[in-house]
Amino acid sequence: MTTFSFEFFPPKSQAGERALWDTVRRAESLHPDFVSVTYGAGGSSRDRTIDITRRIATETTLRPVAHLTAVGHSVAELRHIIGCYADAGIRDVLALRGDPPGDPRGAWVPHPDGFTHAHQLVELVRSLGDFRIGVAAFPEGHPRSLDPETDLRHFIAKCKAGADYAITQMFFHVEDYLRLRDRVAAAGCDTPIIPEIMPATDVRQITRFAELSDAAFPERLAHRLEAARHDPADAYRIGVEYATAMAERLLAEGAPGLHYITLNKSTAAFDIHRAVLASRSLSAR
Ligand code: FAD
Repeated sequence: MTTFSFEFFPPKSQAGERALWDTVRRAESLHPDFVSVTYGAGGSSRDRTIDITRRIATETTLRPVAHLTAVGHSVAELRHIIGCYADAGIRDVLALRGDPPGDPRGAWVPHPDGFTHAHQLVELVRSLGDFRIGVAAFPEGHPRSLDPETDLRHFIAKCKAGADYAITQMFFHVEDYLRLRDRVAAAGCDTPIIPEIMPATDVRQITRFAELSDAAFPERLAHRLEAARHDPADAYRIGVEYATAMAERLLAEGAPGLHYITLNKSTAAFDIHRAVLASRSLSAR
């Protein structure tokens, strides 16, 4: 089965809240398989993530996935948060290690009573109940990994610790995803890896993406967005077309689903999704 899902983040302002709920309602009409809510860097949005995920579970028809990072939390705190999710009827957790607060590229210092790697959080969530657990995957390798082989070994160990599926970091070259997927399969691991789709509809976003991930941005797309810097409608069209073509190719290559980043206000994710659905129903005829 192919899954479609959308990702939201916990906003910091009232205007941001309104935009989020408006986007959630629009997502509802597209009947995604699930929606996920990120956990602020270093656990900074803990209460908002829990609250939004709980509200999605109780006030909408959507199935929410709560992101949870181990960084900055003791095991006792993590147990408590997982208990809060279970109490709210949330059975889906994306188990992550997280990055150091402040400088995401800074030295990793584990909480003295906490975890060092995501597989430990996977094991904890698995031990606490009947959860569906997702983990993170990195088509271009995790930025801190020693080498691709070690990274692959760690990823597979994380899957074997009890993950049901993985969602990738954003990426812009389909080959990076296919290479990871094929290497994981060749190593005997059949955990489905869902590609994340990040629409790039404005040249100014490229710097932000570089801060969020080490994903290589295609030069040609960057040039086209630069040329459309003063024409937002054209830049939007270019970004949506690129991401739609990527999404269609990923599905044609057998990807088990698509996970769209919405940035809480983006209509791009919905437009891409509608275009993908339209081309699938056309090709099914
Ligand atoms: P791990 O799997 O622990 O990997 C981290 C590094 O440690 C890798 O280099 C890995 O190779 C290495 N490693 C793993 N196991 C071992 C081991 N046993 N021994 C030695 N080395 C090991 N961050 C947030 O703060 N909030 C979010 O909501 C959030 N959502 C995300 C969603 C997705 C889909 C993705 C892809 C990332 C998300 N992140 C989020 C970012 C993520 O927390 C960081 O990228 C983090 O650096 C890696 O997390 P991980 O769970 O992959 O860690």
